[in-house]
Amino acid sequence: MKLTTNIWEMAKKKRILPTMIRRWCCAEFKEIYGAGKVTLIGIRREESARRAKRNEVEVSSRKFSENFDQFSEHEEEMVTCVSGKDKILLSPILTWTEDDVWDFLNSEGIPHCELYDQGYKRIGCIMCPMSTTRQKLREMEEYPHVLRKWCQTIEWLEEHVWKYNEKIENITLRDRVHWWISGLSLEEFRQAYMGPTLFSKEEMGEDKIEKLIKAAFEGYDKM
Ligand code: SF4
Repeated sequence: MKLTTNIWEMAKKKRILPTMIRRWCCAEFKEIYGAGKVTLIGIRREESARRAKRNEVEVSSRKFSENFDQFSEHEEEMVTCVSGKDKILLSPILTWTEDDVWDFLNSEGIPHCELYDQGYKRIGCIMCPMSTTRQKLREMEEYPHVLRKWCQTIEWLEEHVWKYNEKIENITLRDRVHWWISGLSLEEFRQAYMGPTLFSKEEMGEDKIEKLIKAAFEGYDKM
């Protein structure tokens, strides 16, 4: 798998940030691969409501979605339905709990990412829109270069896309970052944080966000 672009350039091309509601990045960078192949994935049902609905054996385009037992019963019939562009996804630990995972790793002596020892519960891309606001704030502090790239992307979008939308004019970079890491829709965010100067500066996290953005640009030009 060879990437030809990065998530910031893709955001400019798509003219939108990735968000919980419009999570285009997984589709662009992960899910497009695997045609004609079997991909093993480590998702677990207890991780989210969406994952709770997943099955252990799935063929893309929803041609097949069952558990391992059902798959072996229908093996011959289903294999004939898999064509070159289909993807077969196997989720062998779908029903495992978090304790099951740690018991397995520890009993087998399998090394794990040290970020888990530093308190991270979920490890994906840095500042992933699917992570909690608390985790994003932590990552903004620990990975200022990633925050800087997102700020530059936000400023590009502001200049080339958003400034033409009168509904969201006069928003500062700090407001934009605050909205984006909140995981709220713009409308929900407006209702929660909009004050006389658009967004209230006294709201939770405002000063911290301002400081983190400043730190991310120390020694760099804004664009
Ligand atoms: S892990 Fe998060 S940031 Fe990374 S591609 Fe998936 S949704 Fe996007």
